[in-house]
Amino acid sequence: MPNDDAAGRLAAIHSTIAYGCKLAGRDASDVTLIAVSKMHDADAIRPLIAAGQRVFGENRVQEAADKWPALREETAGIALHLVGQLQSNKAADAVALFDAIHSVDRPSLVSALARAMDAQDRRLPCFVQVNIGDEPQKGGCPVADLPALLSDARAANLPVVGLMCVPPADLEPAPYFALLAKIARDEGLGQLSMGMSGDLETAVRIGATHVRVGTALFGARA
Ligand SMILES: *Cc1c(COP(=O)(O)O)cnc(C)c1O
Repeated sequence: MPNDDAAGRLAAIHSTIAYGCKLAGRDASDVTLIAVSKMHDADAIRPLIAAGQRVFGENRVQEAADKWPALREETAGIALHLVGQLQSNKAADAVALFDAIHSVDRPSLVSALARAMDAQDRRLPCFVQVNIGDEPQKGGCPVADLPALLSDARAANLPVVGLMCVPPADLEPAPYFALLAKIARDEGLGQLSMGMSGDLETAVRIGATHVRVGTALFGARA
């Protein structure tokens, strides 16, 4: 995709978000667009920053640590969200680098993140990733284990603000988004990280507060 079209791609995503919000009677300002820049280098990211995008997502701590400190020196006000699986031994690095974590999925990670946040005196909003389609190969907390994990998080004083999911590929995503929204409501959690390039309008219609969009903004990944 040509770099000079970054503003156009960004505008197209914003109008999709606005349309989904209109269908649902929601305010578009309640939806945060996370531009997922994994596997794209600084030259691919800069045009999007120039077009006004400030919230980015990465799925690996090391890749983010390699790319973002320099980009953040060029432009103030960038927020970085971790959207990929996190190993407990990288929790401290993640807390230092990111502004939100979308992939809390197990008790050992709850304690590692809580310890790192205490040590750095830095509290990041966290989403618990739910394996909403109950897929054996997929990351995320099983639905049945969620109440126990949320109670661990409360006990550890980890700031959990919402739930995140990646629905099963090749199936209609709406029922999975609706199920995640219901579980979040039952648990008293206000934020929903759901919706990617192929299903963001559906996700917004069903209540997403954070959509994670890579391909539609950056083109296909290598
Ligand atoms: C890569 C990724 C995305 C972005 O996916 P696209 O289909 O490229 O928009 C969103 N969420 C997570 C967790 C990802 O790993």
